[in-house]
Amino acid sequence: MHAASIERVGVGTDIHRLEVGRILKLGGIEIEFDRGLKGHSDGDVVLHATADALLGAAGLPDIGEQFPDDDPRYKDADSRTLVSSVVALVAELGFEPSNVDVVIHAERPKLTAYKMAMRQSLAGLLALPPERVNIKAKTHEGLDAVGRGEAIACTAVVGLGRPANTS
Ligand code: MG
Repeated sequence: MHAASIERVGVGTDIHRLEVGRILKLGGIEIEFDRGLKGHSDGDVVLHATADALLGAAGLPDIGEQFPDDDPRYKDADSRTLVSSVVALVAELGFEPSNVDVVIHAERPKLTAYKMAMRQSLAGLLALPPERVNIKAKTHEGLDAVGRGEAIACTAVVGLGRPANTS
C-alpha cells in the first residue's frame, strides 16, 4: 500500500490564527486547548500543509486553487475530506505517498501527548504505516506570531512514488 521508492518530493506550509471559541484540530485530531484555529474550513494546518505537499510533489495546483476558501462547499469542512480528495488526485497520476514528515510550529499547547494519535490519523488518511509518518513539534521561543501564541503553523514534506509491484 505504499511506494517502494521515492520519485517526487513536495513541500507544503500553512498558518492559521488562533481564536477563542474554536475547536483546535491538528492532523485530524481534536486537541484540548482554550482556542482553535480560525479558518473557512476547520483550520487544520497540519492537513492543509500535507495536502499542499502532496499536490506539490505531483505537480498539481495548490489547495487554494483546488478548494477555494470562498466556496461555500468548504465552509467548516473537515480537512480530512480534503486530504482524501488530494490523495485520490495524486493516485490518478499513478502516484502514492511513500512517507510524510511534519513540523508543527506552536508555542502552546504542548503536543507531545497527541503525537501518536496524529501520526495514526495521518497514516490512515495517506494509507501509510505509522512508521512512515513523522510528527515533530517546535516552539518559536517567544518570537513572532507563533511565538506570541497568536497562530499555529505547519511545514510538511511528502515523498511520492509508484505503487509497489505486488504480483
Ligand atoms: Mg489553511
